Amino acid sequence: MTKFTFEELGVCPEICEAIKAMDYKHPSKIQAESLPYTLKGRDMIGLAETGSGKTAAFAIPVIQKLLDAPQPFFACVMSPTRELCVQIAEQFEALGSSIGLRTAVLVGGLDMVSQAIALSKNPHIVIGTPGRMADHLANTKGFHLKKLKFLIFDEADRLLSMDFEKQITLILTQIPKTRNTYLFSATMTSKVQKLQRASLNDPVKIEVSNKYKTVDTLVQNYIFIPEKHKETYLVYLLTQFTTGLKTIIFTTTCNQSMKLALILRSLNFKAVNINGQLSQTQRLNALNRFKSGERQILIATDVASRGLDIPLVDLVINYDIPQHSKDYVHRVGRTARAGKTGKAITIVTQYDVETFQKIEELIGKKLDEFPGLDSKAALMLNESVVEAQRLAAIEMKQREGKGGKAVEGDDADDGEGNTDMKLFQKKGKFAHQKGFSGGNKQSFARKRKRI
Ligand code: AMP
Repeated sequence: MTKFTFEELGVCPEICEAIKAMDYKHPSKIQAESLPYTLKGRDMIGLAETGSGKTAAFAIPVIQKLLDAPQPFFACVMSPTRELCVQIAEQFEALGSSIGLRTAVLVGGLDMVSQAIALSKNPHIVIGTPGRMADHLANTKGFHLKKLKFLIFDEADRLLSMDFEKQITLILTQIPKTRNTYLFSATMTSKVQKLQRASLNDPVKIEVSNKYKTVDTLVQNYIFIPEKHKETYLVYLLTQFTTGLKTIIFTTTCNQSMKLALILRSLNFKAVNINGQLSQTQRLNALNRFKSGERQILIATDVASRGLDIPLVDLVINYDIPQHSKDYVHRVGRTARAGKTGKAITIVTQYDVETFQKIEELIGKKLDEFPGLDSKAALMLNESVVEAQRLAAIEMKQREGKGGKAVEGDDADDGEGNTDMKLFQKKGKFAHQKGFSGGNKQSFARKRKRI
């Protein structure tokens, strides 16, 4: 964070009011360094990652310009994943809350028709994955970007590594040459440089380098335990130390994330899971429940570790140690964001020592053992956990029988309706354990004004 205020950087009162409602006290580094240029109309290259405040860095100048000359289809943002697109739309809407700003999200895996309806309402900003954006440009009657004023590439390195090059080139042929362009990328690959040359005009370059460094406000610990008791120790950590904390638990595989979700639910924890095997609707549902505070624990594979902006996460638990050290930084980067504090606990077993040492090497820090771990107390939970594991195994088998992953009804409850599980919960075997927490609701709604 910097000492300047948004007003001092030239942000207009309407947006400052929204920023105040969003509780941003000061501009982040990338915002402070880019806004003086972008508000004056310069193109920008931002070398920055999610967590730096880059979304507001590009949304603020767009909205400020939109206020001067309102028009539909003013800006187009391309981003690599569906979740990121939704988050970007949410930030645009929050920052444009006092002027009734409208967005449309165009992403694959969701219905084209409802997206076409959103486009027919003349949104100011369209945000999407390049594939679906190109699809709508080709097939949705009346939709064009011929009057576009801003084009934004978010996570350009990922866009290009995901083979979106063809669609991006096509979109570039269908928009005006005179416009502003912002390009954000974590790294400057040769493909990104090529895109930069093809689409930007005398850009200001802002670099916010926090690669492979964890922030000082993050408290990082590990616990060293035998592999066979991993689930028991996880439950122990959750009961003893995480009451009231919004927690993300990372696993390596989709199966493990599903199994943990079933085990934790049967022990009455409010857990949802998000992994690459779930449908898009299921993933968004799970994320929304976690974001709103309806569920306090999110179990995720690395699908969720990059790019997702989940506000107010207090704790990250690495249930499975990340196999690639860089993933550790992405995972723990879900907490202690934007100057806030956070905690990360990594479960290390006898098989993980070498991987763990590589992580310590990458981040240039020796982690401390988690204080206050009582193995005797942890193992007292073993019986309950074994029973929950048994029920989870039955449920997993039933799901496989129904075709596996995306079980009908998951969209609504993410598999929470299982009878055996409920019986187990009724017995209340676990509910008496110390520190048991049912989760607290902390849903919040943003104040919105309309023009
Ligand atoms: P981003 O890098 O755009 O994904 O933003 C990461 C998180 O930082 C999001 O939750 C933003 O709402 C938040 N954020 C962005 N700018 C600021 C700021 N100036 N002060 C506090 N939080 C911010």
